[in-house]
Amino acid sequence: MIDLFYMQELPVAVMGLGKSGLATATALRRSGADVWVWDDNPASRAAAEAEGFRVVDLATADLSELTTIVWSPGIPHTHPAPHPVATRARALGIELVCDIELLGRAERDCAFIGITGTNGKSTTTTLIGHILAAAGRKAAVGGNLGTPVLTFDPIGAGNICVLEMSSYQLELTVSITFDIAVLLNITPDHLARHGGMAGYIAAKKLIFHRQTKPRTAVIGVDDDPCRRIHDELVAAGDQRIWPISARGPVAGGVYAADGWLVDDTDGAAERVAALSRFPALLGAHNWQNAAAAFAACKAAGVPVPAIVAAMESFPGLAHRQQLVGTVDGVRFVNDSKATNADATEKALATFDPIYWILGGQAKDTGLSGLEGYTGRIRHAFLIGEAQEQFAAWCDAQGVAYTRCGTLDVATAKAAGLALAERLEGACVLLSPACASWDQFANFEKRGEAFAGYVAGIVSAHDGSDIDQANIGGSGSAA
Ligand code: ADP
Repeated sequence: MIDLFYMQELPVAVMGLGKSGLATATALRRSGADVWVWDDNPASRAAAEAEGFRVVDLATADLSELTTIVWSPGIPHTHPAPHPVATRARALGIELVCDIELLGRAERDCAFIGITGTNGKSTTTTLIGHILAAAGRKAAVGGNLGTPVLTFDPIGAGNICVLEMSSYQLELTVSITFDIAVLLNITPDHLARHGGMAGYIAAKKLIFHRQTKPRTAVIGVDDDPCRRIHDELVAAGDQRIWPISARGPVAGGVYAADGWLVDDTDGAAERVAALSRFPALLGAHNWQNAAAAFAACKAAGVPVPAIVAAMESFPGLAHRQQLVGTVDGVRFVNDSKATNADATEKALATFDPIYWILGGQAKDTGLSGLEGYTGRIRHAFLIGEAQEQFAAWCDAQGVAYTRCGTLDVATAKAAGLALAERLEGACVLLSPACASWDQFANFEKRGEAFAGYVAGIVSAHDGSDIDQANIGGSGSAA
């Protein structure tokens, strides 16, 4: 755990008792702080009380002693309307910070790499962590992704802290200046929480706050908001700036062009590797992540051959276009994290031909925006609550489909058809464009179930000359 020595004997409140809130309360207690905790959910309060924490209603208690509230970034404190506790705290001059700010105050000597963007944060953060580990560098990796930061072992000078930063966390972190800051992309998201697009862009831009040379800004230039931020940074001239692109050459940066990852940061436009060498980084969106991770790790001093070797061995993230099996050249890809059409579009843009498993609990946007990919869809296998809605879409688009109801049936039928046809480049793709909650606890459980069915198909295929008709029976739940 991180030692929050500077909070010793001070009263500190923790607002929001999810995984990182509880980790924060624990780290503060171990550091000798006088910890108060609150969550609007009675069950969360009861769980904290059972762990011996002092539950204090921050909406009504006397807060005059308090200087700091460690705020769960998921709770609105400005837009669309501030939580009453935030309003009260601000009126009393109490600071609101998140757990990452506490980490920043404790760890003054390590190097910080921060990653933000609307999409690709977790992939890029994990990839950077993987490259640093493969290169023998000691790095703590967490933040918005996975491990609550205050559960890290102390980091210290000479080591690296890699943080995935959401826009909410950036707004609640003031003390960290990132040695290497990565902004991947900006598309409209979470606008209600930021009071509109301008607020969202301003929050993302905080990743570059206070950077001076030789600190490095790695910034995607494939969308308008990021290009504007790039131009502003260049005009200000404070830090070293490496633009990145998945769409072709950018002077002085790292980019994907003609199937190659190209490094122009030294002005030599050197082809460092064919992108096809990175099996877990398929699709143009992942080339953006690869370019960003390459730039960040080069800035951190990792030799280029070591970066390339680590990218080759990167296993990818579960549930994001994750290859979970191959049978007779047919790839089985788990993209369960794609819970809306926007995310699914990335997968449809990556594979061809596709045996597409989709459905679940539909979002308001349904499948709109995916019309341009129908030529790649060999057959659609529909599941869940959205089945009839998506059947109507397939009818309208002229896409062949089968109503399957459940994922086990869909996987068996998709595998059966794909293995019967054995088309070149074929992919059985679970990319549901829907939430999972009608049939699964969450998207992870849905992806695990799919991977389990695929494992059954793979082992049945490995074990014997299977009869295609039996494929359906071989899948078993994970
Ligand atoms: P985040 O952590 O920002 O949510 P992830 O790395 O978990 O992003 O990726 C989630 C999904 O977003 C992926 O399954 C893919 O569909 C899409 N995605 C990943 N990287 C990018 C990118 N650079 N640009 C656009 N979309 C992306």
